[in-house]
Amino acid sequence: MVRPDYYDKFHCIADKCRHNCCRGGWEIEIDNEALERFSKLEGAFGDKVRASISADNTFIHKNGECPLLSSNGKCEMVLNNAQLCVICDEYPRFTEFFDDYAERGISLSCEAAADIILNVKDKVKIIYDIDGSCTEPIFILLKKAREDIFTILQDRSKDIFARFRLALDYGMHLQDRINENEYAPFEYAPKDNFTGHNSLCGVIPLFKDLNILNSEWSNMLKKLESDEMHRKNHTLDPIIGEQLAVYFVYRYFLKASFDFDALAKLKFAFLSVMMIAALENSFGDINECSRLYSIEIEHSEENIDMIYDEFLFNEEFSYYKLINMLD
Ligand code: SF4
Repeated sequence: MVRPDYYDKFHCIADKCRHNCCRGGWEIEIDNEALERFSKLEGAFGDKVRASISADNTFIHKNGECPLLSSNGKCEMVLNNAQLCVICDEYPRFTEFFDDYAERGISLSCEAAADIILNVKDKVKIIYDIDGSCTEPIFILLKKAREDIFTILQDRSKDIFARFRLALDYGMHLQDRINENEYAPFEYAPKDNFTGHNSLCGVIPLFKDLNILNSEWSNMLKKLESDEMHRKNHTLDPIIGEQLAVYFVYRYFLKASFDFDALAKLKFAFLSVMMIAALENSFGDINECSRLYSIEIEHSEENIDMIYDEFLFNEEFSYYKLINMLD
């Protein structure tokens, strides 16, 4: 299994979790095999499980909580030794498939996972215990390019924001090559194209227009927008910034194998890190800001697609605007 070296440290902290994933109103789609198992559960517990499932096969949340979350913060499925549905069983782990090749990771949206990711002090290494392979030329190119990007991001001799800008410039060059159907390995020394600070004010209106899960997030975005109007630049712990950037690049960059848009994956990665940095500058507690960002943005395919659309059509999200936001 391919995974970041911190992956195996994850354990669910269950009733000690302040932001249990069974709360927060997430729609959990139950897979068919689990539905079949649940239909055979016996007794009062079986009746309760079936009564908790909606017509479109999701758990019906009550007051934002999973109906099977017990008063002591533990899952009644687990307490009753019943096998969980795939989504509950997997979370916060994620898997991305590229033909027979698969990569795993843990999501920032989980408090325990965020705690691990943001507290890594060493340079993260990706462990390649590989079973399968993907031989598509675009995938091979992107996988090599991702290693180059990790090297840029983990060059601790440079300022953290300069590293983001260099990685984005590398992505611009890479995208030019992909657009020319050039998939051969290449060497490129990226340039820092920073010309002057650009606030996040131009991008925050989009975040306010996305699907929003928690009203707390909505209020935070309003304050963030007003703070950004006066902010000259951002502060960000360089090691935490590096781990965040590596997390987003690891999770999203290879998805360009499907749509050939590597630059968009990097724009998303660095926009995400900057939004989290700006939130921390306004509210403190980077773990909590990262967790909230991940819940609101990463866990909505629709929100991510809307952001990618802006990269294509909105000047505020152009390479030239974004490069000057990385500061
Ligand atoms: S958010 Fe993470 S630590 Fe908390 S209950 Fe869910 S899986 Fe466990």
